[in-house]
Amino acid sequence: MDPIVIVGGDAAGMSAASKLKRERPEREVIVFEKGAYVSYAACGMPYFVKGAVDSLDDLVTITPEAFVEERGIDLRLHHEVVGIDPEEHAVVVEGPDGRTTQSYDQLLVATGAHAVVPPFDGMDLDGVFTMHSLPEADAVRDYLASAEPESVAVVGGGYVGIEMAEAFHAHDVEVHLFEMLPHVMAPFGETVADHVEEHLREQGVDLHLNTAVERFVGDDRVAGVDVGDRVFDADLALVGVGVAPNTDLAESAGIELGETGAIATDAYGRTSRSGVFAAGDCAEARHVVTGEPDHVPLALTANRAGRAIGQTMAGDETPVGDIAGTAVVKAFDLTAARTGVIDEERAREAGFDPVSVTITASSRAHYYPGAEELTITLLGDRDTGRVLGATMVGREGVAKRIDTVAVALHEGATAEQLSYYDLAYAPPYSPVWDPVLTAAKVLDGNVG
Ligand SMILES: Cc1cc2nc3c(=O)[nH]c(=O)nc-3n(C[C@H](O)[C@H](O)[C@H](O)COP(=O)(O)OP(=O)(O)OC[C@H]3O[C@@H](n4cnc5c(N)ncnc54)[C@H](O)[C@@H]3O)c2cc1C
Repeated sequence: MDPIVIVGGDAAGMSAASKLKRERPEREVIVFEKGAYVSYAACGMPYFVKGAVDSLDDLVTITPEAFVEERGIDLRLHHEVVGIDPEEHAVVVEGPDGRTTQSYDQLLVATGAHAVVPPFDGMDLDGVFTMHSLPEADAVRDYLASAEPESVAVVGGGYVGIEMAEAFHAHDVEVHLFEMLPHVMAPFGETVADHVEEHLREQGVDLHLNTAVERFVGDDRVAGVDVGDRVFDADLALVGVGVAPNTDLAESAGIELGETGAIATDAYGRTSRSGVFAAGDCAEARHVVTGEPDHVPLALTANRAGRAIGQTMAGDETPVGDIAGTAVVKAFDLTAARTGVIDEERAREAGFDPVSVTITASSRAHYYPGAEELTITLLGDRDTGRVLGATMVGREGVAKRIDTVAVALHEGATAEQLSYYDLAYAPPYSPVWDPVLTAAKVLDGNVG
């Protein structure tokens, strides 16, 4: 029997390979990875640049040697898959020894996503970076040490931009953050954005909203950021304007893409071509609230889908699971979080009649030292009372609480049902009525 082949050796790919070998040790599993790293924590890169994580090796969960020697996976680093022939069940691979063809019994495309590179001049100047791979994180930290920048420009106010602003700030440099939209962190909604923006300014970040960068200026090295009517000094620039799924390989093999632009998959991660699966940042997944395909490139989604597909490929059909787009971000001393559908327009498009409530509550019993204010927005459907999504922002207790609402979304719970969840209470952690319960009660009073 031909081997099972996996393209891409990070979260989705290595989760699939590992599960497969655990279930069917006798099966030959080949992973082609075009880079030098596998199973690395891209999520930790901002903290490596900040200096909170010492070494790049700390971000590698399992080494290539361990995958080969302990898990029996045939891992081929520096091998790029450049073509898929779904009729012949074969992939074309370019590696250090040239071009070869490898036939497969089943194939997983786990090619991930890439950082979007905006089309403005100066992207090729020294000192201009994106942040999507370990070598890039390494290069940024080296540049910080060697060029000793005084002023850093972060382009893009999404979560990578915010995390990187914090990372640069820790190096005592002036940080400018440019966002072309009226607010940072668009997927988290305006209430969260207002809090984060105020906090960034308090921390000394120079925030430029409604400000589109037009080009970087400099001779060999970046020296400034041109925003049209003004040039700001910058001797390091980090561009974090989003990611796009790596779909070229799949598309050129005739594998269907979905409306989001990522690879269309069914509940088991199968693509439109027989024997070919897709998982992680390159693939769509079904949204638990809308029931529609969506593309939310996050780590758990990739790990979970990879693992499930590994099990399916081993012969035990396992769904990849729905996504709620649950995300949490550290913005200096604030935590911002979201889950589900939080945009009213989007809720209407999905057939709901959205009602939203916002409450502010204490993170601990009011008398217990260290209590902080927490703001929660809950979105629900007017007719059914079903909870559709939530955002939260505050200095503590946000991460635990967003997960409570994520659970409610997976249960399809109504605001009333959520308001009856038996949540933990002790003064150092929460008021008796946890803020989630309070928000659910208020929402329940406005729906149904
Ligand atoms: C700075 C940053 C911070 C993040 N923080 C968070 C966070 O806090 N929480 C969270 O949930 N998510 C976070 N993410 C997202 C998370 O890292 C991704 O969702 C996750 O890595 C996706 O895993 P993946 O396996 O689908 O893709 P990837 O990690 O992109 O891996 C794909 C792999 O495929 C390889 N590849 C691509 N094409 C080919 C080919 N043709 N042949 C061979 N190999 C190929 C690539 O080299 C790569 O190693 C962050 C991402 C970044 C960049």
